[in-house]
Order: sequence, then structure tokens, then C-alpha cells
Amino acid sequence: MIPRTLFSSEHELFRESVRTFLEKHAVPFHGQWEKQGYIDRNLWNQAGEAGMLCSHLPEEYGGLGADFLYSAVVIEEVSRLGLTGIGFSLHSDIVAPYILHYGSEALKHKYLPQLISGERVTAIAMTEPGAGSDLQGVKTSAVLDGDEYVINGSKTFITNGYLADLVIVVAKTDPKAGAKGTSLFLVEADTPGFDKGKRLEKVGMKAQDTSELFFQDVRVPKENLLGQAGMGFAYLMQELPQERLTVAIGALSSAEAALQWTLDYTRERKAFGKAIADFQNTRFKLAEMATEIQIGRVFVDQCMALHLEGKLDVPTAAMAKYWATDLQCKVLDECVQLHGGYGFMWEYPIARAWADARVQRIYAGTNEIMKEIIARAL
Ligand SMILES: Cc1cc2nc3c(=O)[nH]c(=O)nc-3n(C[C@H](O)[C@H](O)[C@H](O)COP(=O)(O)OP(=O)(O)OC[C@H]3O[C@@H](n4cnc5c(N)ncnc54)[C@H](O)[C@@H]3O)c2cc1C
Repeated sequence: MIPRTLFSSEHELFRESVRTFLEKHAVPFHGQWEKQGYIDRNLWNQAGEAGMLCSHLPEEYGGLGADFLYSAVVIEEVSRLGLTGIGFSLHSDIVAPYILHYGSEALKHKYLPQLISGERVTAIAMTEPGAGSDLQGVKTSAVLDGDEYVINGSKTFITNGYLADLVIVVAKTDPKAGAKGTSLFLVEADTPGFDKGKRLEKVGMKAQDTSELFFQDVRVPKENLLGQAGMGFAYLMQELPQERLTVAIGALSSAEAALQWTLDYTRERKAFGKAIADFQNTRFKLAEMATEIQIGRVFVDQCMALHLEGKLDVPTAAMAKYWATDLQCKVLDECVQLHGGYGFMWEYPIARAWADARVQRIYAGTNEIMKEIIARAL
């Protein structure tokens, strides 16, 4: 096996504390959260206290100024334990950077400390019923009226949507200008006219609160515009590589965990007088999976190393997202097969992980869109 060299002993100490935290505060409750469709709100505050949220944010806003690998550690441990209800990475590694990179100092001082403490849960609302892959087709509008923007429209499939206190909303400030007419707004969830629709019932990731959001004449101060009007699309393009990398990191950890569960299971389970793990088919499948996971691990670690230096480009991040999530789904499917009927039983982590994995090829930009991005750069 190729040893991982990316993480320092400090990162590994942090990993230990993250794992201990999750084993105590999340693992025993996740099954219940799957039934209710969202995680316990208090977990956000506990995670904030434990330094697990937005650790990368600068100290002036209350963060630890930690490098991206601390975020990677949280993603890896959450994924390894199959805690797919926990939307920490979206909050810390996807939403917070928009505020940090494009928000005014006033917005940063107002909101970032609350993101770090878990006092505010965040979401990002891009997708609409009629616009997913084709984000230029967003219909939600934001019209300047005096000192406020008035937002109208609806969003769907929004991760953390039900628990969110603060949402980045992608809206058109100039519908005739295409991509150049798109802007990003910070909207507090208790603003009049902002309604949360139903929590969506999903095939997997059942503890994740994925919701519809509705905006009817929602008035936000014009200061809540992130960066400049019309630059929203450019900001999205700038930030999406990190989102795609986070998905790839989670995919690899989930596949590694699945392989380990399957090794344990097939060594234990007997058929025709011997362990399932001793059949040549099983041995070859396990060998193939271990090899491909190893290849993926080296590639994704290298992407992380590049990202630390600010050198991960858009097509390479797209490669990581597409390839790692395809691998994850392939591995999960093989692992379910090797578990036999038990692999289809919800009480087995492998069954949950299999159901949870499928959406990884769809969100954060579908894998087809990733291939478009890669092909364009060739
Ligand atoms: C559980 C979950 C959580 C999500 N969380 C969020 C969130 O927090 N925030 C948010 O804004 N969105 C979120 N999404 C939405 C997600 O990003 C979109 O579903 C995704 O981008 C695809 O958009 P769509 O569903 O409209 O599919 P469509 O765009 O309609 O695509 C349908 C099919 O057509 C293919 N296709 C589309 N265009 C092309 C093309 N040019 N070339 C080739 N094939 C193409 C797609 O790849 C796909 O296979 C989430 C979705 C899910 C399911």
C-alpha cells in the first residue's frame, strides 16, 4: 500500500478528536435522524464548540486559520462513518468561502463567527425546479428597490435547507444579461416572505434535510449582495472546484469504509463450508476494489496537495469528482453483492452507504457536466 504523506501528526490528532466526537454525538443517533429526516440542531452547536466548523476561517473572524486538510479530515471521518445526514462540509467548505471571499467586512464580521460556532446553519440555493445543470436558466429574480433587493422565486433540492438560518441565494439581477446578470445574496431564514417548503423524501441520505425554498417579495438590505451585482456566475465558477474536491474526498473515504466492512463480513460469513472471502471470485473482487481505491486515493490526495497550493484547476477538480464518485458507486454495488441478502437490509451500513452514494454522481454538478468541463479543456 502506498502510505499517505499528506497529513501531519497535528492533522491526525485532529482526526482522532473528530472521530471521538462523531462516535459520541452522532453515530448513536443517526438512525433516528434518518427516520425524522434531519439531524439534531444541537449537533451544530456541539460541533462548533469542538472546533469542527469552518476551521479554515481566519482568526479575526473567530476561526483557527487552519489549512484545507482540517476540512478534509472532517469530510473523511463523516464519510467513513456513513453519517451522510451531517451537512458540515457544505456549511464550512462551500458556503463560508463565498462570504469570506466576496462578502463585505461588515457581512464577514456579522456572520462568520456565527457559522464557526454553529449558531447559524447555512445552505446555498442554486437549483430550481426548472434549472439544475443549466444554472444560467435560473428564474429567481432580485430587483433593486431603494436600499433593498426584492427577491422572488423558488429553489429545490437544497441541502441543509430545513435547518438553515442563512442561505446564499442565486438570483438574476439582470435577466437579459444571461450569466452576467446573475448575483448572490445572503438571506436570513426569518425574513418575511421566505418560506421553507417540504423536506424532500429521498432514496438515500435520509438524515440530510434537503428542502424546497420559496421567496415571495423577500426584501434584503442591498448590503447583503455578495461582491458585485452580475458577478455571481463568475464567483460560482471560482468556488465550485473546492465543492467538487470535497465530494471526491468523501467518495474515497466511503469506498474505503465499504471495502473494510466487506472484508470483515466475507471473512466471517460461510457458504459451502468455507468463508465467502475464500472464494476466488470474492478474492478477485476485493483485490480489484482495493487496487482502484488505492489509485483513486493517490489521485485525490494529489488534488488536495495542489489545492493547498491554490493550483487545483477546474478540469482536474471535475475529473476527481466524476471519477471518485463513479468508483464509489461501483465499489458500493460490488460490496452489496458480496454481502448477499444482508447487503440489502437497512440495518447493515453497507446498504445505507449504497443508497447514500448514488446521488454523489448527480449533485455538485452531474458527472456528465464534469465530463463536459474536462472535454472543453482538452
Ligand atoms: C440530495 C441532493 C442535494 C442537493 N443539494 C443541493 C444544494 O444544496 N444546492 C443546490 O443548489 N442544489 C442542490 N442539489 C441539486 C443538484 O445540484 C442538481 O440536481 C444537479 O445539478 C442536476 O440538476 P437537475 O436535477 O436539474 O438535472 P438536469 O440538469 O435536468 O439533468 C438531467 C440529466 O441530463 C443530463 N444533462 C444536463 N445537461 C447536460 C449536458 N449539457 N450534457 C450532457 N448531459 C446533460 C444530466 O447530467 C442528467 O443526467 C441537490 C440535489 C440532490 C439530489
